[in-house]
Amino acid sequence: AVTLETAHAWLADYASVIHDNADLLTDLDRQIGDADHGSNMDRGMKAVAALEAADFDDAAAYLKKAGMTLVSTVGGASGPLYGTFLLRFAGAVGDGGKDALGAALRAGLDGVLQRGKAEVGDKTMVDALTPAVEAFEAAGSLDEALAAAASAAASGRDAATPLVARKGRASYLGERSKDHQDPGATSVTLLLESAARTLG
Ligand code: ADP
Ligand code: MG
Ligand code: MG
Repeated sequence: AVTLETAHAWLADYASVIHDNADLLTDLDRQIGDADHGSNMDRGMKAVAALEAADFDDAAAYLKKAGMTLVSTVGGASGPLYGTFLLRFAGAVGDGGKDALGAALRAGLDGVLQRGKAEVGDKTMVDALTPAVEAFEAAGSLDEALAAAASAAASGRDAATPLVARKGRASYLGERSKDHQDPGATSVTLLLESAARTLG
């Protein structure tokens, strides 16, 4: 469930995973973008990891601050999208149980869709996030939902690899964006994998 403690553990785990995968994410972005997704996310998640749980009243307040921190530190296309995801997530997280977490993930996805105007199949983070939210909602228990979401994100990430990008910098490459793994779909999958380790 999402509490102030588990929310903090989630983003601390994610900050460490992003740091460990920063070179991979930047290498993926070098193929079809501008080689900064790992450094963008690492800078942002370092700033989020510096937030202390004790300074917040509840998970929603903490996650809202984390979202605003990402907006102001990550930059690029992904900063506003990750920031919006967490801000909307925070607004819907409620009691933090299975249904509330599903509603929070759905609200976060809706925010990303509104802000970025991407659809599934455009080869963006949306290709990993959308099936993750659907799998979460379809599962029975919280633990099953978290595991299903992480696994669906990874499948969505991989399904996007052969596609031509239609949003973001990768879209400038046209057909040459084919057969490259999307950096944002990769970092979103890591976020859902972190959630499965910490929010159960
Ligand atoms: P930038 O492209 O500005 O350098 P990043 O490299 O940090 O930003 O992030 C690139 C990632 O952002 C892409 O791999 C893609 O998943 C995601 N992205 C880009 N544009 C959009 C969009 N309109 N909607 C959803 N995701 C997007
Ligand atoms: Mg980039
Ligand atoms: Mg950039």
